[in-house]
Amino acid sequence: MTFGKCIVCGNDANGALVEDTLMIRTIRAAKQKAGIAKNNTLVVCQNCTEAHAKRRHNFERKWATHLVMGVGLVLLIVGLPLILGGVFSLTGFIFAPLIAIFIALLALFDYAPPLAAGAAPSASTAAKMESATAASHAPASRSAPPKPRHSAKSKKR
Ligand SMILES: [Zn+2]
Repeated sequence: MTFGKCIVCGNDANGALVEDTLMIRTIRAAKQKAGIAKNNTLVVCQNCTEAHAKRRHNFERKWATHLVMGVGLVLLIVGLPLILGGVFSLTGFIFAPLIAIFIALLALFDYAPPLAAGAAPSASTAAKMESATAASHAPASRSAPPKPRHSAKSKKR
């Protein structure tokens, strides 16, 4: 278990660490540029495990669907004129990939990051491992910045 901010309910809680994916790093970098980065450790708390798993599953399915749709559309836009009239459409050739990328990116609105390897909770082992993990896990979790625990607890934002 790692202490951090739950990406589902937004509470500060103990939970399974979320993997630091390209998407998350990108969002974080954008937030840092905008000056609104909070640099929270992102977790999925135990109450939200099921909801997150569902979300993740939906996203994976949607992502796959959009990729297929995007590729299909490119083939249609580029290929159909060739088949019908033998005319090569430069416009289609340029814009089709852009449309395909756009369609694929639409799926990202439902983005749900995977849990970090080994962080996926299984109810039976989670409790058993908790004590062992608390002692041994801290150095292994990469790039988790030291958190000002005292201030967060005493002030209670
Ligand atoms: Zn939660």
